[in-house]
Amino acid sequence: MDIKTLDSEYIANTYKRASLVAISGHGATIVDENGREYIDLGAGIAVNAFGACDEAWRAAVTEQLGKLQHISNLYYTQPQAVLAEKLCERTGLKKVFFGNSGAEANECAIKAARKYSHDKYGEGRHTIITLEGSFHGRTMATLTATGQESLHVHFGPFLDGFKYASPNDSNALDAACDETVCAVMLEIVQGEGGVRTLDAEYLAHAQKLSIQRDLLLIVDEVQTGNGRTGSLYAYMQFGLTPDIVTTAKGLAGGLPFGACLLGEKVKDTLSAGTHGSTFGGNPVCAAGAVSILSRLDDKLMNEVAQKGIHIRRTLDSAQGVKGVSGLGLMLGIETERDAGEIVSECLEKGVIVLTAKKKVRLLPPLNISYEELNKALTILLEVISK
Ligand SMILES: *Cc1c(COP(=O)(O)O)cnc(C)c1O
Repeated sequence: MDIKTLDSEYIANTYKRASLVAISGHGATIVDENGREYIDLGAGIAVNAFGACDEAWRAAVTEQLGKLQHISNLYYTQPQAVLAEKLCERTGLKKVFFGNSGAEANECAIKAARKYSHDKYGEGRHTIITLEGSFHGRTMATLTATGQESLHVHFGPFLDGFKYASPNDSNALDAACDETVCAVMLEIVQGEGGVRTLDAEYLAHAQKLSIQRDLLLIVDEVQTGNGRTGSLYAYMQFGLTPDIVTTAKGLAGGLPFGACLLGEKVKDTLSAGTHGSTFGGNPVCAAGAVSILSRLDDKLMNEVAQKGIHIRRTLDSAQGVKGVSGLGLMLGIETERDAGEIVSECLEKGVIVLTAKKKVRLLPPLNISYEELNKALTILLEVISK
């Protein structure tokens, strides 16, 4: 049976798949079952940081694969320790917990925030404020944290102790902050929520409030992290000092990996036995992440920012485009035409793009060439202006 038939027969229908059957790829090129090539402006939802099968990344991963694939967190492994050191050095956060996904990184953040508050203040100070339109994952706790009612139908009852505030509204944040609150959790650019960037003043207010009330500022950088927005982490562009940073998607360049970075206040909150993950910190994924992180330097970050500006200039006043949002190479395009139709027509014409709510979303590999980018943008504009 062909792949599509097998898939629809035997795989749970949680995804509405596009028509592409992806077989292989190199860089920003994906190849389908008929040998047809596509320019990839999605990077597997911001996961393939340097595109498909990047050589340096592959060498790092396969080298570790030839040594040891897994041993569990009952023992020490080198890639995990080296990666944690580098992440802490480059962020100023103090310790790292490794998991396998964004949701797990956020689960860790939620547990750390609650335990910090419980250790220090006792019962009743457990509420986490998140923002309307946010996305924090699909597990029960992270789904509860996700401020989108449309995702909440069917799955109740939800966890106690989450409250949603309207984004970019400092007064609403103040109003939500009662004595039960222990943390504020936000994305610098809401990804799944429609590529919406938070205001600098709002972020500064959230930071100030967190310090004043000893709330933990949790920044979810699962999508915005690892160079995506033109800085290693997006919060760095806003001068924030988060207490907890979570990340995943691009972290290991295509392998399932997540990290919860813990700042000074919470670095020792999670003690032995309070949290864990069998696969978390897997040496093969960690080796991939070390390789990726070593290349996310100032030069590359500058290139990401420049490419973002180039895309904006190309799209901004183009026919059929109402506006462009986002940061670096995480961009949302508001279009006159239906975004879903644009995505499928682009695919037919050999360009992979995504949606985010009603926008067309671009998350290309960080090292995509201007040649590939321009070729793809020409096709995208053709489709948008139709
Ligand atoms: C994708 C995403 C998640 C969930 O990550 P998974 O790896 O799918 O669990 C959480 N937060 C944000 C901001 C995301 O974009």
